[in-house]
Amino acid sequence: MIWIFLGAPGAGKGTQAERLQGDFGFVQISTGELLREAMRAGTQLGKTVQEYVTRGELVPDDLVAAVLRERLAYGDMGNGVILDGFPRTVRQAEILEGILDKHCWKLCGVLYLEAAEEVVQERLGGRRNCPQCGANYHVVTLPPKVEGRCDRCGAELVIRPDDTPEAIRNRLEVYHRQTEPLVAFYDQRGMLERIDASGEVEQVYRSVKEAVSRRWRQCLADG
Ligand SMILES: [Zn+2]
Repeated sequence: MIWIFLGAPGAGKGTQAERLQGDFGFVQISTGELLREAMRAGTQLGKTVQEYVTRGELVPDDLVAAVLRERLAYGDMGNGVILDGFPRTVRQAEILEGILDKHCWKLCGVLYLEAAEEVVQERLGGRRNCPQCGANYHVVTLPPKVEGRCDRCGAELVIRPDDTPEAIRNRLEVYHRQTEPLVAFYDQRGMLERIDASGEVEQVYRSVKEAVSRRWRQCLADG
């Protein structure tokens, strides 16, 4: 049984997925991590992936899908699988649909975390990172004890290149263009669960948990 999270960067997909894994025994599968693993393992697929990466090119959708299919076919699926990083485009969603149909794997639900643009901008813009030990902070939700200094090692905190105002604008722009059409795609298929993700983590998680419990029962009942 497969679950997908949709939502802008900063909507809280990672945090919510992590909570679900603990409570429901789901396994999270990150396609980025799978590609890195395949390259490390040096499988035939991994070698092909490596060629694209070495040339600095994007790994084609079909290749990412092939790596994902292998993982789903042979790896641990727990009580269900949360996909991380796939699908990002409608084209990828169509490929995924083909894979799931072929193997009779079932998509249980697509959790769409909706948060206002200002909210995600504030969340992403407030992120701070320790360049020395890797600790993460947030100026509002997880501030260090001393402003601008890492609690653990005292190093000066920085803003990751990904989290500068310009990078944030770019990431949101790519999201709107590529990923937002997926909302309509899954809505048409009756798969979409809209979740208000503007609030606190706990509050959002209550809605996520409610939607997953309901969808899960439905998925099991449908066989
Ligand atoms: Zn540190």
